[in-house]
Amino acid sequence: MKKVSLLAPGPTPVPPRTLLAMAQPLIHHRSSDFLEIFGRVREGLKKIFKTNNDVLVFCSSGTGAMESAVANLLSPGDKAIAIRGGKFGERWTEILEAYGCQAVNLDVEWGYAVKPEDVAALLKADPSIKAVYVQALETSTGVAHPIKELAQVTKGTGAVLVVDAVSALGVYDIPTDEWGLDVVISGSQKALMLPPGLAFASIGPKALEMMKTSKCPKFYFSWAKELKNQGDNKGTFTSPVTLFMGLLDIFELIDEMGLDNIYKETEIKSKAFKAAMAALGLELYSKENASTGLSAVEAPAGIDAQDVVGWLKNKYAIFIAGGQAQAKGKIFRVAHMGYISEFDTLQAISAIEMALAGLGYEFDMGVGVAAAQKIFGEA
Ligand SMILES: *Cc1c(COP(=O)(O)O)cnc(C)c1O
Repeated sequence: MKKVSLLAPGPTPVPPRTLLAMAQPLIHHRSSDFLEIFGRVREGLKKIFKTNNDVLVFCSSGTGAMESAVANLLSPGDKAIAIRGGKFGERWTEILEAYGCQAVNLDVEWGYAVKPEDVAALLKADPSIKAVYVQALETSTGVAHPIKELAQVTKGTGAVLVVDAVSALGVYDIPTDEWGLDVVISGSQKALMLPPGLAFASIGPKALEMMKTSKCPKFYFSWAKELKNQGDNKGTFTSPVTLFMGLLDIFELIDEMGLDNIYKETEIKSKAFKAAMAALGLELYSKENASTGLSAVEAPAGIDAQDVVGWLKNKYAIFIAGGQAQAKGKIFRVAHMGYISEFDTLQAISAIEMALAGLGYEFDMGVGVAAAQKIFGEA
């Protein structure tokens, strides 16, 4: 059996101490001990989201919280902008259409960031648009959208801004309250270093108002029900007790490290990895706003990126991600978020070099690793 390395943008590795925290005997989800844990989870999430808003917890993957942000804000027939610069942006359209809402698609070329003025123009042209749905980090392209600027755009309008920060929260600073973000969504399995299974949604005052008139159907993902029950430190349904225990440990870990240090370390890993790719003669797929959370890299001409991904998986049990949809075969993606170290990053670079060499790409073996070592050495 080979040692498995998780270096894809989710799920990311879980720290051993957190795995142990989750090995504790189960307690009952209606016990007073669990109510106390629920209260600590609510407070801890507010710190990471940098908000005084309620942050709801759902037992689902991140998409569940995305879906809740359509079901609880809109009514069938309502119009909302979906910023589509990649696979996750397209998911907003799919959810909107599933609920009978009208998606106003703002298509952004993959690899590029949305222009806030384009969103402003759409909102001005049609004041009936009720929401703008966007990704903080579009994981399929590695691009970070300008969230702070988008919040400035929606601020003076009737529209709420809903930010999918599943792959961005804990990667770089997204201060919910300071930027005035109406809804911020995240999940457990990216920078929060937990197994998949928890989704989060912070809900600001403007979104709470809109929620009151929403007529889309909802049951499991009802914000009103959850706000009431979670306000009393109770889940409406059976809470994922084990993941909550893990989350408490993650809070401790983040407190020990400091959020700013975490952002900085992520940035250094990203910088080292990107320098390595440049030294190998490879280009980033993210043509602007390349995020620090992951790198999306174009495979050299004549090499199928899926072969690089497959080489790492089959020979070394290293999991990186390929491209999705139109980027499939063209790019591979490597994460820098969460519990991934400098040496995991060097391992990925080294393995990519070995795969590229095996697939016939010509370069001086080791130049990528050396470029990254230089940056880690200076950091
Ligand atoms: C991972 C991710 C999600 C959530 O996907 P799930 O598979 O539902 O957890 C949503 N948005 C972005 C940008 C992501 O990277």
